[in-house]
Amino acid sequence: MADVKFVNKSEKTPIKTLYCIGRNYAAHASELNNPIPSAPIVFIKPATTIISDGDDIVIPAASNDVHHEVEIVVLIGKAGKNIAVEAAGEHIAGYAVGIDVTARDIQSRAKEKSHPWAVAKGYDTFAPLSEFVSPNAIGNPNGIQLSLNVNGETRQDGNSTNMLFPIPQLIAYLSGIFTLQPGDLIFTGTPEGVAKMSAGDKVTASLENGLTTLTVGVKGSDS
Ligand code: ZN
Repeated sequence: MADVKFVNKSEKTPIKTLYCIGRNYAAHASELNNPIPSAPIVFIKPATTIISDGDDIVIPAASNDVHHEVEIVVLIGKAGKNIAVEAAGEHIAGYAVGIDVTARDIQSRAKEKSHPWAVAKGYDTFAPLSEFVSPNAIGNPNGIQLSLNVNGETRQDGNSTNMLFPIPQLIAYLSGIFTLQPGDLIFTGTPEGVAKMSAGDKVTASLENGLTTLTVGVKGSDS
């Protein structure tokens, strides 16, 4: 896991908190038989989940159903609390594509018991992350294309225009609870098409048809 604790390698900004949003695309909420949320669903992954292009996702021995969730990842570049929706853009330092890897079987058991998702979302290697691109390269945060393929077969292909809570609203909402800091990341939710990955798979994710990309392998815990 080389260079995984930093973003924008030239500047070496340390990554702080990984905020993640659940069920932010209606079609994905439906595919897992979940209701549409009335406010953003927030959870946190440890920074030890982050891996980079060329690394491998490790399937933990405790799971038989590890899923990919491709997501647009926002890098916070400027601290803020109670940020207005209109000012949210000033706090964005970059965008990446990431995968919110999820042990779906462990998560399902946790949901049944109303337990937290930290274990299902938090194993080492469960947050592959691409290099960041400048907000200027992206433009409007409400029209970002994202996709993921496994062994060359497209599994997820979405656009942030379909988010229930758009990126500026997520920054406003999160900053009403937490003080956002430079180096914080926001995994903004996944579109439909989540599915199981297996040892030996090659997984490629992309923003804006290749503006920034990420390719990772998948292996078992004993390989
Ligand atoms: Zn997710």
